[in-house]
Amino acid sequence: MLSDFISLFFPKYCMACNNSLVKGEKMICLRCDYELPKTSNHLDTNDYIAAKFYGKVQLEHALAYYKFSKSGRVQRILHRLKYHNKPELGRFIGQKYAAELLNSGIQTCYDLIVPVPLHKAKLKSRGYNQSTEFALGLGEVLNIPVSGHAMRRTVSTATQTRKSRMERWHNVDNIFEVPMPNEIFEKRVLLVDDVITTGATIESCAQVLLDSGCQKVGVAAIAAAK
Ligand SMILES: [Zn+2]
Repeated sequence: MLSDFISLFFPKYCMACNNSLVKGEKMICLRCDYELPKTSNHLDTNDYIAAKFYGKVQLEHALAYYKFSKSGRVQRILHRLKYHNKPELGRFIGQKYAAELLNSGIQTCYDLIVPVPLHKAKLKSRGYNQSTEFALGLGEVLNIPVSGHAMRRTVSTATQTRKSRMERWHNVDNIFEVPMPNEIFEKRVLLVDDVITTGATIESCAQVLLDSGCQKVGVAAIAAAK
């Protein structure tokens, strides 16, 4: 009875490879856990993710748990998290990643974790913000508070996808705002997103945070593309 109840929340197949989970495995099987490509870039300050932001915005860290590649297991995880009503997967990955980050002392570098916001229409249709779920998992283990309302997205991405890549790049300017700057004033903020691709979204969010009075901003994502 109890295990039936638990399996409602933790389905018994791997979120990355679809194989059945065995006893003791949760969400991601041991094989995937071992084989999924981790960046481990909290141990390497001069890496490909940080390079996306050089000369654009000053970031304290630019961290990602996994290396993103199209049609791989990492993409399957992100897809499940976003489109298959699996908020608990985001929370789980946040906890796992934070357990690794603890060793490098990240928890002493930040006062507040802020997820990249969804537009309110998207939040309503999805029911949760996948980045907030990831943030909550991180915050729980790093012992840093999470604020899901510190930033607001004022323009929906649906209107953005109709635009060209170049237009989109410029278009992320002015779509985020900080409704109550007091909440982030002088704080060291860890901005959190599900995936970093071009880095344009993060750049825009981080700049808005810095312009609104943050002391410094770092970034952590579930995955980052090359
Ligand atoms: Zn697996």
